[in-house]
Amino acid sequence: MKLKQISEEAYYIPGAVNIGVIKSGNSAVLIDTGLDREAGRRILRLLEKNNLKVKAIINTHSHADHFGGNSYIVRRTDAKVYAPEIEAGIIQYPYLEPLYLYSAHPVKDLMSRFLMAEASRVDFVLDVKTETKLDLGEEYPNVDILSLPGHSPNQIGVEVDGVLYCADSVFSRNVIEKYKIPLFMDIERQKQTLSLLEKSGYEYYIPCHAEATNDISELVESNLDVIRKVEEFLISLKRGTTEEILRKLCQEFEIKLSNFTEYYLMTSTLRAYLSYLYDKGVLAANFDEVLYWKVNEVG
Ligand SMILES: [Zn+2]
Repeated sequence: MKLKQISEEAYYIPGAVNIGVIKSGNSAVLIDTGLDREAGRRILRLLEKNNLKVKAIINTHSHADHFGGNSYIVRRTDAKVYAPEIEAGIIQYPYLEPLYLYSAHPVKDLMSRFLMAEASRVDFVLDVKTETKLDLGEEYPNVDILSLPGHSPNQIGVEVDGVLYCADSVFSRNVIEKYKIPLFMDIERQKQTLSLLEKSGYEYYIPCHAEATNDISELVESNLDVIRKVEEFLISLKRGTTEEILRKLCQEFEIKLSNFTEYYLMTSTLRAYLSYLYDKGVLAANFDEVLYWKVNEVG
């Protein structure tokens, strides 16, 4: 684990989840904390080695691999935790994550550390509709937050020094090649987020699951490309139940679902596309004992 410097204040710790670090003197603000206690322990050790004290944690969203290290760090430091509305609810009550994926009390397989991190206190709940400046005290006068919803309902990015920590708003080509269809929970807002990133002019972008880059457009394009392909494929199917559509989607995109976690994450992603197409009037719903989705005839 290494601390990598991008600008005077902006640093990050590259890893499976890139952890943001904003530095001011001997104090540091963390952006996300990794999957679990072990991640929290390693982050804290690295900061101590660099003579840094954690002043605050900003969680970009409530997926387990982004806040799982919180509780370890919060217990050992005076760090205050900041998280956006809705996401803050899950960070404090992580059971909500497998609960909403399964939409009832989940099978035990879904209550794993990948979907249900250790709960963490949240000290400040951020209203991303009205707040842009983050008040972290006088050591950090220039930290801004930015709404980047889509991958999760209320995800935020954090900006300092022209560097944007853009969380899971874009995925790398490698991630897309591996998972084929990345997890997006709200397609409309994800598209808006991608177009906002495309037009933005930050000097540097640090996504959590892609290499830091000074040019975001290629990442934006490859993420948009998958969304377009999924949409087109779903429309080409004409009619089907959610399960039928899921099976065809997996065949088309060569996705193998082999456990509850993979199945429910992909089902949620598919449902995000279905509600998006339904709300746009592209799909209609037929209730014939079960729910059938059907493409609306044009004209
Ligand atoms: Zn995520």
